[in-house]
Amino acid sequence: MDTQMLIGADFEAGTEHEETIFNPKTGESILKLPEASSAQVERAVEAADKAFRTWSRTTPAERSGYLLKIADRIEAEAGGFAALEALNCGKPINAVGDDEIPAIVDCYRFFAGAARCVPASAAGEYMEGHTSMIRRDPIGIVASIAPWNYPLMMMAWKLAPAIAGGNTVIFKPSEQTPLTALKMAKILADILPEGVVNIVLGRGESVGNALINHPRVNMISITGDVATGKKVLQAASRTVKRTHLELGGKAPVIVFDDADLDAVVSGLRAFGYYNAGQDCTAACRIYASDKIYDRFVAELTSEVSKIAYAQEDDTRNEIGPLISMRQRDRVASFVERALEHSHMEATTGGKVHDGNGFFYQPTVIAGALQSDEIVRREVFGPVVSVTRFSDVDDAVTWANDSDYGLASSVWTKDVSKAMATSARLQYGCTWVNTHFMLVNEMPHGGMKQSGYGKDMSHYALEDYTAVRHVMIAHG
Ligand code: NAD
Repeated sequence: MDTQMLIGADFEAGTEHEETIFNPKTGESILKLPEASSAQVERAVEAADKAFRTWSRTTPAERSGYLLKIADRIEAEAGGFAALEALNCGKPINAVGDDEIPAIVDCYRFFAGAARCVPASAAGEYMEGHTSMIRRDPIGIVASIAPWNYPLMMMAWKLAPAIAGGNTVIFKPSEQTPLTALKMAKILADILPEGVVNIVLGRGESVGNALINHPRVNMISITGDVATGKKVLQAASRTVKRTHLELGGKAPVIVFDDADLDAVVSGLRAFGYYNAGQDCTAACRIYASDKIYDRFVAELTSEVSKIAYAQEDDTRNEIGPLISMRQRDRVASFVERALEHSHMEATTGGKVHDGNGFFYQPTVIAGALQSDEIVRREVFGPVVSVTRFSDVDDAVTWANDSDYGLASSVWTKDVSKAMATSARLQYGCTWVNTHFMLVNEMPHGGMKQSGYGKDMSHYALEDYTAVRHVMIAHG
């Protein structure tokens, strides 16, 4: 197992606080990893600064070539990556191997192509005797900070557009899930010029804090909690850094009475509980029409009670555990508080799994009202609430009545209703008759406190480059 950070061309261990890395399936410790010292963070910034001078002047075709090589290496080592991610996050290995790794490889390949065809306005004479042109140039050093729910995928979403755009990066994985980033360090060092990507380990309050406050860091890209996003904004305001914030979510799902109920139920079984609900787009806040509510709750309950988890034979598991005991207990406390109210019931689940590891039972909370905490706050676990509506306006108002604005979905057979409802939702993404589907060509990102800035798509490349105007006077 690779355990060393990458600073410039050097592989080295951290020298500070040791973090225990757990196997969430068993609750046992895998190893301890020390975090970067402030001197090591400083050297990573120096390495990124030095590399920027030449990397920023490479052609898009050259950068594209590097990204394709990275994609090929991940593909060639897919089995090793899947095993490591499954170990560190507790994910079923098939979910990583079949769903995540191909999407990660495709992300690097997409940006390899996108780097070579950045759209811009035509150069022209917008003032007599002057020719104007638009350039898209790199921003500089990007501090990229990732969460624990999809470690390798979040790394791809951050690294690929940043280096495609000609920036250099200091990447910090979550202190809980650094293992695939450390394996990536070897691949990146083999392929990229020294210092283009540097990988440092550490906690948010120490290493993360040093990065976001560093005067030579030009941009902060972070995926994490809203509270962390606010700290990033405070730090960024001191030296006016560009920020790219992918924060939490609480996705509303509006189910109309004319929806294909079998498709809704099988969809929500998958999209509400995938990754044990540790997903900022998870279909976790359902508004179901009065006319189908009882049947819907009964069928969803029946399906969710069949979700396979904590099985000895991992190939049978649909979901894994929560990332940590702390996260599992946090989920349990949300459900306990919900069930203190007599209008809500757990129609399935509702308890910590009795056994090893950080598992929580897949849970449906029926009878939830708009004002309930379980409807308003991000649980980030395998828990879905169902709220009854009789008026479409109420459903849309409640769906929008949230601090978050990342993802949403509408389920109906009526195209007009789907279009009209989608147009009124204040979310970065609205799916119709599906949920959770991402493609590298399309943007992913939030509104409101879910943050701003897009991952994937050419919009990400725009976020990781600066628009510049060059004007030439020629009489
Ligand atoms: P977190 O905010 O605790 O940590 C995220 C990352 O930020 C970690 O690497 C952490 O070390 C770092 N960090 C924490 N405090 C910091 C600070 N003061 N300065 C600099 N860095 C700091 O979040 P988490 O618990 O790892 O992840 C779960 C959260 O991420 C959830 O709220 C989830 O909704 C959100 N998330 C959002 C998206 C999205 O695309 N919008 C994707 C995945 C996760």
